[in-house]
Amino acid sequence: MNNKMPVLFVGHGSPMNAIENNEYTRGWAEIAAKIPKPKAILSISAHWYTNGTKINDSTKPETIYDMYGFPEELYKVVYDAPGAPEVAHQTKNLITKAVTIDNTWGIDHGTWSVLHRMYPTADIPVFQLSIDLNAPPESHYQIGQELHSLRDQGVLIFGSGNIVHNLSRVNWERSGGYPWADEFDAYIKDKILNHQHLDVINYRLAGDSSELAFFTPDHFYPILYVLGASSDSDTITVFNDSRTLGSMSMTSYLISAQNTI
Ligand code: ZN
Repeated sequence: MNNKMPVLFVGHGSPMNAIENNEYTRGWAEIAAKIPKPKAILSISAHWYTNGTKINDSTKPETIYDMYGFPEELYKVVYDAPGAPEVAHQTKNLITKAVTIDNTWGIDHGTWSVLHRMYPTADIPVFQLSIDLNAPPESHYQIGQELHSLRDQGVLIFGSGNIVHNLSRVNWERSGGYPWADEFDAYIKDKILNHQHLDVINYRLAGDSSELAFFTPDHFYPILYVLGASSDSDTITVFNDSRTLGSMSMTSYLISAQNTI
């Protein structure tokens, strides 16, 4: 039996998904039920976007409420998962780029809004790796490659962002995506399904749609870690394949070694 863990990219969308029941949150719960239970979760969240690469090695990471203006109920969600200091140190050592231990951050809403629905009992250790805002796309992909071996130890490499994420164009009345949002999301999906990772790294090749897809790549970069940690022989499952609010893509990817799910 192959015990290799899949890698997962989730489009997290609105923080309200933590407490709402909708097609996206049902999709997350279904994926959690489908894959082997991880020994630990390494989360690369769009919301820990820092100067340099940082890692959390706390035994008890705090729930971070890094969003504003939402209903009180959302701020009552506590994701009480233990940390994973040993795996965090191992992760730090696998990465050739300099990584700093930083426990001023904990589990942010990019992580907990999804994990609260995937693993509501919060019994799986979780730790976060930050996204260096100064590093080029190739660097994020390379870190993903260096993390590949964690999959053999039952660690779930979990990227949380959105392939299309343009808050200035959000239309709360719109259920689907603008044509350019559909176009960029389709470009990325096609490249992922065909294992053309260089064309994802060089996402500007998508043309004009890439200019509108996001203004800062914080929500896009988590996919590069996930793709870096994948293998060409893996099976790719696309789920929650949709655009919402005009300018946000919820499209998510489960990438699994064959015969593991
Ligand atoms: Zn977000």
